[in-house]
Amino acid sequence: MLAKVYPWHNEIWHNWQQLLGQERLHHAVLLSAPKGSGKLELSALLAKTILCKNGTTEPCGTCHSCQLFDADTHPDFHWLRPEAEGKQLGVDVIRAGNKYAWETSQLGGQRVILVQNADRMGEAAANALLKTLEEPPANCHFILLTESMDSMLPTVVSRCNKWKPKMPDELVAKRWVESELFESVPLQVIRINRGAPLAAKAFIDKGSASKHEALLSAFTKYLTDKQGIFNVTESIVKSDREGLQWLSFLLLDVLKIQQGTHEALVHCDSEKTLVSLAEKLPQGKVLQQLMALNKLKAELTKHTGLNGELLISRWLSDF
Ligand SMILES: [Zn+2]
Repeated sequence: MLAKVYPWHNEIWHNWQQLLGQERLHHAVLLSAPKGSGKLELSALLAKTILCKNGTTEPCGTCHSCQLFDADTHPDFHWLRPEAEGKQLGVDVIRAGNKYAWETSQLGGQRVILVQNADRMGEAAANALLKTLEEPPANCHFILLTESMDSMLPTVVSRCNKWKPKMPDELVAKRWVESELFESVPLQVIRINRGAPLAAKAFIDKGSASKHEALLSAFTKYLTDKQGIFNVTESIVKSDREGLQWLSFLLLDVLKIQQGTHEALVHCDSEKTLVSLAEKLPQGKVLQQLMALNKLKAELTKHTGLNGELLISRWLSDF
């Protein structure tokens, strides 16, 4: 696992280093940050430091522990996460974590249990973890990661030392992505990815930028001449349904323009498209379709068995 501190995490990392130096780091650290902001890498650095045999405030990189960590084979580091993307973090996974927590360290030092997607614990899993957090075993650290503390059981949150790093300014994020990719990146890519630099970089790396462009063009064409509903649906399916979020941003942008503001548009590099849509569609219809889209998104996430293509086509035909 890559252990790294990105520039926008410097402040929080210095705070943790100070606490580590004073042996005052809480046994349960909860880190809340958006997807694609690099929190996994930061938490890996914390875990590696805690486990290092030489360093106190940063890993030495050369001891046996650091080498095992880099090879992803450290016996005292346990990474708990959902079995698949979008799935819940099951009670069995948490119970296994609890078992590790009470075992003796194999390297005669600390143990670290990293809980990724802590907001995806069901009630049984959250309660199982809560028990261990309430009676923390000696020499055992928990690091919990979440995209939102609001979706977690409040009793679990209250047992943790909470950290919420500041996100980088969007121009700083843009420059960082550009320096990584050696190419210029439109500001709207940063905004579509909610300002998270790694998410914006991945968006370009995995070809989502061209999928996004294709969807916008198919959608605009459909709204203009009422043809090509299949192309729009196909573009959304090809984007692994991320396209639904892109269209949600787009309709909100259109609505803003209809209400007379051109500020804080997500699609700030596609203003011409936005203006032409704003002129074509009645404001009431945009609002109604935006609300229906957000509802549809939530339903498709919750019930994986639904016929997404059919529901998306139905939503499109309501325009
Ligand atoms: Zn070391």
